[in-house]
Amino acid sequence: MQIHDRYNLTRIINARGPFTPLGVSRSGDFVSKRVSEALGKFFLIDELQDKASRAISRWTGAEAGAVTHCTSASITLSVAAAMAGESPEKVAALPDTNGMPNRVVLPAGHAVNYGHSILQDLRLAGAKPILAGTEQRCSREDIENELTHKDTACLLLVSSRLVKGESIIFQHAVEAAHRRGVPTVIDGAAQDMRVKELLATGADLVLVSAQKYLAGLTAGLVIGSAELVRAVRAHELGIGRGMKATKEGIIGALAAIAQRETLDLTNWKDEQDKKAEAFVRAANKNKNIEAWMEPDPTGLPFSRIFLRIKPNKAGIDAKSLQVKLRASKPSIWVMKDRYGSDQIGLELVPLTDDEIKTIQQRIIEIFK
Ligand SMILES: *Cc1c(COP(=O)(O)O)cnc(C)c1O
Repeated sequence: MQIHDRYNLTRIINARGPFTPLGVSRSGDFVSKRVSEALGKFFLIDELQDKASRAISRWTGAEAGAVTHCTSASITLSVAAAMAGESPEKVAALPDTNGMPNRVVLPAGHAVNYGHSILQDLRLAGAKPILAGTEQRCSREDIENELTHKDTACLLLVSSRLVKGESIIFQHAVEAAHRRGVPTVIDGAAQDMRVKELLATGADLVLVSAQKYLAGLTAGLVIGSAELVRAVRAHELGIGRGMKATKEGIIGALAAIAQRETLDLTNWKDEQDKKAEAFVRAANKNKNIEAWMEPDPTGLPFSRIFLRIKPNKAGIDAKSLQVKLRASKPSIWVMKDRYGSDQIGLELVPLTDDEIKTIQQRIIEIFK
C-alpha cells in the first residue's frame, strides 16, 4: 500500500523547489537504505559526529564539520559559538549574554524570511541583530562601521535567492570582518552545490541543509574552522539540546555526502537543462502562455522555468492558475513570487518525467 493511501494524505507534485512545508526533498534509495539500517541500532553520537566531520572535510576541503538538527539550528548555534565559545559557564548562561559580545552584524537585505525571520534565529541565542545599510544597498563602509563596535560577535551573510538589494562581494565583507578579528558565518542553506565557493570567500563557517539539494534527512551541516565547529558542538550541552542532530540525521548526511561526491555534475546539469528545455518547448505551444528558462540567480547549476500568463478568454491569471494547480489531484505546487508580473515559476529538479507530464496536461486542461 502506498504511504499516502495508508494515512489518507494529499499527494503532491512539488515544482516549488526544496520547500520545507512540502517535505523539502526526495531522498534516494541509497540514503533510505543506510538510514533504515541505522534506525534499529545504537551508536556513540560523538563517534558519528567525528565521522561526519571527516566526511564533510573530505567533501569540502574545510578543516572540520558538525551536524545539527537543521540550518535554522546551525545559525543559532554558530552565533552562540561566536559569542560564548566553549566556556561551560557561558554555554550554560545563554541566552543570557551578560559579559559576552552579542552584536551580530548582517547586511539589511540579508535579514531574510524563509518561513520565519532569520533574526529570530539570532535572538534565540541571546544575540542582538544589527542591520547594516538599507534593504536596497549595503556598502563595504556600512558593514565596516557596524563591525568597529567592540561588542561585535560575528558577521552573518546569507547566500540565497531570498536576499534583497544590490549584491555584496562576500570576500570583501569577510576581509573587513577579519581585519577586526570578527568571525564570519554564511547561511547557505540551499547552496550545498556551491559550498566550496562559499568557503573560498574566507568565511569561518558555512551552513548548509542536508535535506535540501543534498537530499539527506533533515539536518544542518556546520562547515569550516575546527575551533568554531568545536564551539558549536559545545552548545549541545546548552541551548543546542533542542537542536540536536539525530543518529538518523547524521547517517543520512553521511550517505548523502558520499552520493554527492560521486555525482557527475556535467551529466546532472545536462539532464536538468534537457528537462527544462523540453518543458519550455511544450509550454510555448499553448497560446495562453509564454515560457522561458532563467538560471538560478545565485549560481546554482540549473535553471527554473517561468510562465507568463497572457490575457485570455478564460480570464485566468497567474494567481488563479496557481490556485487551480494546487486544487488538482495530485496537488501541484509552483513558485508564486511573481504574481505582480503575472508569472509563476517552476523548479523541475526532483521531478520524474511522469510528474512533469501531469503538470503540462493539467495546464492545458485549465485553459480549455
Ligand atoms: C531553508 C533555509 C534555511 C533553514 O534551513 P533548515 O535546514 O530548514 O532549518 C535558512 N536559511 C535559508 C536562506 C534557507 O533557504
